Amino acid sequence: MTFDFHKYVASIPDFPEAGVIFRDLTPLMGDGAAYAAATDAIVAYAKAQGGIDAVVGPESRGFIVGGPVAYKLGVGLIPARKAGKLPRPTVKQDYELEYGGINTLEIHADAIKPGDRVLITDDLLATGGTLQATIKLVEKLGGIVVGTAFLIELDALHGRDKLAGYDVFALMNY
Ligand code: IMP
Repeated sequence: MTFDFHKYVASIPDFPEAGVIFRDLTPLMGDGAAYAAATDAIVAYAKAQGGIDAVVGPESRGFIVGGPVAYKLGVGLIPARKAGKLPRPTVKQDYELEYGGINTLEIHADAIKPGDRVLITDDLLATGGTLQATIKLVEKLGGIVVGTAFLIELDALHGRDKLAGYDVFALMNY
């Protein structure tokens, strides 16, 4: 059965600033059947990529997408958190935000072993900066990014170009 995921996306003009259409995925996450179907689609993609040892999700909606995917794959979820949140030694990566400014993501240094095959999940691919930083964190620890999965890809921002050489799966394109 095909699921009409677009029905569960609210499009909000001029948020968080004029000229931007914000794609709000909370209706999808708040609907049991839609959330399960989206999870299942990403799990099917992950299985097609071959063995996955871990799911990594950037804060914070990457956790919402990645948690149930990791559970269904029978692997752990590794949070890539904003600076200063993780209590033990980390690796860090700065990146530019879509609406200006610099952010930093961190992963615990012992979270990934060299050679681990990693799926990265997030709710939405915009410019690709968040995902590029997350990929760098995984690779600093010797992990292999075998796939990246999103609920939405914003085509006009060409985030996929920044992820050249990596496999990209998006449930919906806008
Ligand atoms: P990027 O780094 O430019 O690809 O931005 C992607 C990040 O910004 C993701 O973690 C998203 O959660 C967030 N983001 C950017 N635009 C939107 C949007 O329209 N809806 C929901 N999240 C967004």
